[in-house]
Amino acid sequence: MRYSDTAAPVITLTSGPVDAYPDVLRGLGRTVLYDYDPAFQAFYEKVVAKAQTAMRLSTRPVILHGEPVLGLEAAAASLITPRDTVLNLASGVYGKGFGYWAKRYSPNLLEIEVPYNEAIDPQSVADMLKKHPEISIVSVCHHDTPSGTINPINEIGALVAAHDAYLIVDAVSSFGGMNTHPEDCKADIYVTGPNKCLGCPPGLTLLGVSDRAWAKMKANEAAPRASMLSILDWKDAWSREKPFPFTPSVAEINGLDVALDLYLGEGPEAVWARHALTAKATRAGVRAMGLELWAASEAIASPTTTAVRTPEGIDETALRRAARERYGVVFSSGRGETHGRLTRIGHMGPTAQPIYALAAIAALGGALGSLGHRVEVGRGIDAALAVIDAAA
Ligand SMILES: *Cc1c(COP(=O)(O)O)cnc(C)c1O
Repeated sequence: MRYSDTAAPVITLTSGPVDAYPDVLRGLGRTVLYDYDPAFQAFYEKVVAKAQTAMRLSTRPVILHGEPVLGLEAAAASLITPRDTVLNLASGVYGKGFGYWAKRYSPNLLEIEVPYNEAIDPQSVADMLKKHPEISIVSVCHHDTPSGTINPINEIGALVAAHDAYLIVDAVSSFGGMNTHPEDCKADIYVTGPNKCLGCPPGLTLLGVSDRAWAKMKANEAAPRASMLSILDWKDAWSREKPFPFTPSVAEINGLDVALDLYLGEGPEAVWARHALTAKATRAGVRAMGLELWAASEAIASPTTTAVRTPEGIDETALRRAARERYGVVFSSGRGETHGRLTRIGHMGPTAQPIYALAAIAALGGALGSLGHRVEVGRGIDAALAVIDAAA
């Protein structure tokens, strides 16, 4: 049997966009209110308050109306000036990519780059800050998704705060799937979105912004204003007293409202626990099949994505195609430098359920076998099941 690649798959186990929660999909179908209808303005205010609760912020978060790349680019454009020296931390494709944006707004860019299967060592950040007292902004990606690895942002954030520099964090694919919040890592701009661990379709950015970041952006004459890249324009949009600068994405707000209710209703700790357990079971299964994790150590492997190193001689694109055609299972590829070198199994939102570890192991092992690389799928399943059962 073959699954047509033009029909919907059976399961999408990707690292974003992810399959949305069915309740979110129903939420998207709610009435599209006029943005100046007081009912919508009151609703928007409530959704922002829920996002504030979920992000455990002491200030109102900002919603930007495009997928989180908009928020990352906006953070660079708004906070960084030519007088800043930026230290960009790169442990993967997204971390590296932020440096290119930073460079657009300041010629003074320093970088710590580590191999893309490793994490940033906080000691190296401490050393760099000591050597370069002029560093005024540090940028870091929490979960560099194309590598499936996690950086220690809380430790890094403490160092950056002690240095009195600003911190920009890309937490797009970690927030909502593990214990991370803007104030835990002392972020000045914390960029995330609902289209990864909150189980929404892509279309919005959520930003945590510190008071001092607001002050710096306001003082920056070159910070975007009257622009889709403007964070300043949307500052007070949460308040029903304030007009929206542009039309908000009404349907996406409907979906976000449901996603936040699901997250807060289930309980964040319970949500993180099922992400962690799904990832742990998947890693156990991968290893038991004799395959290698991409992450240099299990300690830095993400609870929201498991990246599996492509075995020697295997065409990674053919591997994902086989999983799609034979079993209807969609995995993510690597990106940029990691493309072709690993396959990613996402555990985000609705797919962060341990039973999906078994589906992933079976589809990955079966697809490899179909390409002539036989692995012991049964062992993988047993190992994953043992992890799940131990937590029962
Ligand atoms: C998904 C993601 C983004 C958003 O970018 P895409 O356009 O969806 O690729 C940004 N940063 C990280 C770390 C992400 O995982």
